[in-house]
Amino acid sequence: MAPGNCVVKGCKTTLFNKGLATNFHPCPTSLEMRNRWLQILKNRCTILDWAKSRICSKHFENKHFDAQRKLKPNAIPTLFPAMGPDSASKTIAKNTNTSSSKLDKALSRMTQSELMSDIKLTLVRMKEPINLSVFVYDDIKCLPDAPMEAKLWVLIKKQEYLNNMLTEAVVKSNKNLENLQKNMTDTKSGRKEMEQNIENYKYVIKCLQEKQATLEEQVEILTAVEAR
Ligand SMILES: [Zn+2]
Repeated sequence: MAPGNCVVKGCKTTLFNKGLATNFHPCPTSLEMRNRWLQILKNRCTILDWAKSRICSKHFENKHFDAQRKLKPNAIPTLFPAMGPDSASKTIAKNTNTSSSKLDKALSRMTQSELMSDIKLTLVRMKEPINLSVFVYDDIKCLPDAPMEAKLWVLIKKQEYLNNMLTEAVVKSNKNLENLQKNMTDTKSGRKEMEQNIENYKYVIKCLQEKQATLEEQVEILTAVEAR
């Protein structure tokens, strides 16, 4: 490892190309944290020198940084580049790519209603963790140490709720549209309906944005799971 390079095998980050968003972090000093790092890094570094080795911030999830983008004392690296052909992480990444493009193709063949009923069916079959509420704050955020299954289940719940909201909004919009067409002759009421309709569409858009935020959160978690 050249000085000024990230200690992780396969990581291309150096002091010269790192950019403003990436920083280098020293290794932990406590024995307990060093043991945890060693477990994760032993197959991912050629040399790990507790005093000199530096690891770049690309290997840490957002939750491991404080407001000043400093590593929290209990931070552990979890994100790594795919390694050589024999490594498990490469195999996983490859499989995910193949299955995701296959999945994309399958998804593009489905209609919206087919997708909705499929999601509903899957949800019915899945089993909710019995003690889910133990892991959730009142503002429906998960406790930081909640198990991955609980976090995913909460996301599923949020999405299901958003889906219902969206369905309601779409039904309402359709109804308004029907009314609008009926009342087209009456300009005045037609305009009122139109305004109402615009409000409804704004609501649908808001729901979609919230849904997108949830999906992004889920992608982040899944990426983290994949990286483990
Ligand atoms: Zn790195």
